[in-house]
Amino acid sequence: MFVGEIQVPVSRLKGAGPATQEQLARLGVTTVGELLTFWPRDWDDRTVTLPLSAFQSVPKFTVRATVIAHDWFGFGRMKTLKIVIQDAEGTLAELACFNRPFLERQFPVGTAVAVHGSFQWKYGGIQSSAFEIEEEDRAEAKVLPVYSLTAGLSQATVRKLIGRALAEYGKGLDSELPEAVRAGKGLPSKTEILALMHAPASLQDADRARSALIFEEFWIFELAIGRRSIERRGRLPGTQPGGRGAEPDSDAAGLPAFIPSPLQKALIDRLPFDLTADQKTSLAEMNADIESPLPMARLLQGDVGSGKTLVSFLAALAVVERKGQVALLAPTELLARQHAENASKMLEPLGVRLAFLTGNLKAAGRSRLLAELESGGIDIVIGTHALFSRGVAYKNLRFAMIDEQHRFGVLQRSAIIEKGMESNPDKTPPHLLMMSATPIPRTLALSVFGDLDVSVIRTMPAGRKPIITHLTRHGNEQNLYDFVGRELAAGHQAYFVYPLIEESEVLSLKSATTMYEHLRDRVFPGVPCALIHSKVEEEEQRTIMGRFRSGEVGILVATSVVEVGVDVANATCMVIEHAERFGLSALHQLRGRVGRGNLQSYCFLVYAQNLTEDGKARLKAMHETVDGFVIAEEDLKIRGPGDIAGIKQSGYLAFNLADPVRDRDILEEARDSAFSYLLEEMA
Ligand code: ADP
Ligand code: MG
Repeated sequence: MFVGEIQVPVSRLKGAGPATQEQLARLGVTTVGELLTFWPRDWDDRTVTLPLSAFQSVPKFTVRATVIAHDWFGFGRMKTLKIVIQDAEGTLAELACFNRPFLERQFPVGTAVAVHGSFQWKYGGIQSSAFEIEEEDRAEAKVLPVYSLTAGLSQATVRKLIGRALAEYGKGLDSELPEAVRAGKGLPSKTEILALMHAPASLQDADRARSALIFEEFWIFELAIGRRSIERRGRLPGTQPGGRGAEPDSDAAGLPAFIPSPLQKALIDRLPFDLTADQKTSLAEMNADIESPLPMARLLQGDVGSGKTLVSFLAALAVVERKGQVALLAPTELLARQHAENASKMLEPLGVRLAFLTGNLKAAGRSRLLAELESGGIDIVIGTHALFSRGVAYKNLRFAMIDEQHRFGVLQRSAIIEKGMESNPDKTPPHLLMMSATPIPRTLALSVFGDLDVSVIRTMPAGRKPIITHLTRHGNEQNLYDFVGRELAAGHQAYFVYPLIEESEVLSLKSATTMYEHLRDRVFPGVPCALIHSKVEEEEQRTIMGRFRSGEVGILVATSVVEVGVDVANATCMVIEHAERFGLSALHQLRGRVGRGNLQSYCFLVYAQNLTEDGKARLKAMHETVDGFVIAEEDLKIRGPGDIAGIKQSGYLAFNLADPVRDRDILEEARDSAFSYLLEEMA
């Protein structure tokens, strides 16, 4: 029997009267099974006693002392008892006994007591108002569970009830894990876990039980992920079709070599550089997916500038050769356009038929384009979310590629798959490739994105120099302006990024518009400057980007619209003012706009005086590393997983005790174990 199957109502337990039942119900506990899995949020270790002098370094502890005086403060009904105690070292403390006047008679002067609580320095002495007190010889040295309770319900009541439940129902329970897995991992049985959680002999015991429960939660979750992948693709995530490959970033054991298809080869031959080893490996993985009868579901991770776009174009060619259509989705118009321009340079010469589709496309052009998409006159369409809006129909959409996938909700992925399925004559899902320059931390890659295969581009193309990052305090900009001036004089270009488009009445921040004028007229007279943000007309945006790309414009003043996609190798300076206003991934993306060629590049983060702790942590991370993977992990730590776009809706936080970030080691172990279990089941 599983503990969850114990449906006996708590009212059957001795001591659970109507009031207690009602309080427990408010906590979602109505059955004994629920009571037994009502886990402590923490444990009080009363096995260790400390002298009062420890109060500043240990938040809560037990002290053995003697009552030396009673005292009263306040008046009338507000009169409150104060018990003065003294420990063996001679240190005094005052216990404020709010609403507990009866303690006076219970603990007369001279009683030896054990007091458990937290102590503060207040009113010139050591004080506590949150404590439990017992006669010393009655005090049991124990580790006590602490539950999250509602008003009226005491820890003691819950401890007692759970104690009864354990004695009467806690025996012979089955683990949710298969017995072989549980025993193989040396995990305690369900009965042991319950006892260790609710009545541990030591904190280590409690911890062992909790880790076992966390393992269990992850294991069941990963089993579901593995099952889904097997149903959909006939194999586990992280393995190669037909093979039993290793986890993708464990040294690519047993990977097929990259053998370019004819169109891929034609494009590679025209490139002025070689593909990096990681680009080739990723392509080998994708080609294998494309050749297999089951759809690809893959995440391509690679830091800003690592060359993901090219990889996606090459993968698209393999699908075009098989007469499938490809859609490349980008989060912004600016990025979509840039992809379209690159594609037309690289792919049109190979005879590939391209189209560019955004929400802004005028009616006539739009209907012609839609007709061509539907008739199969277009091989690759590049655009924004308009690609998947109603009224867009494909002849045979076989490959959906999502760039900067973190900018889209997790749920959008299923909408895109639907679109492909309905378009395809055989109603099969299209291949799906999601790209991310904000690397998904491994913990998320294993959980939210756990059913995807992952390809990783770790190394940058040869010749790139790490970007040098400087932090500059607001008010000290002159040095950096001088520095940028020298870079401009050397023929290079610069970005200046601001959090706002225009001056705001509420926030006294520099805005792109005012700074554009200031930089143009005062700081860099004679240097052609341009201003770009989301309110600039599309046509105008295109002209400005063209002029910046050609080198005609030296300084591009912008908002975070330039965060993704802009690729100008001659730009060597990225100045971000009010850097504390930007999130870590935005900062990293913005910095990634420079250092895209062989020139040494620089990033200047200008920050305001009164930084918040988070703001400090972000700037510190930016200063210390240029590695997007490290930054993503930091970001996750600073913001917590709940804030990361789209993750909230994905069930990521649906764990009970487990926390994929904190418990990532257990997560990895559980995933390995669940997947081996599935493999054995399949064999
Ligand atoms: P990402 O999308 O990963 O941020 P991009 O695809 O925009 O990166 O590539 C950045 C730049 O690097 C582009 O100008 C691209 O042409 C160039 N590039 C891509 N692959 C290589 C390579 N193997 N060697 C040199 N340059 C490359
Ligand atoms: Mg890109």
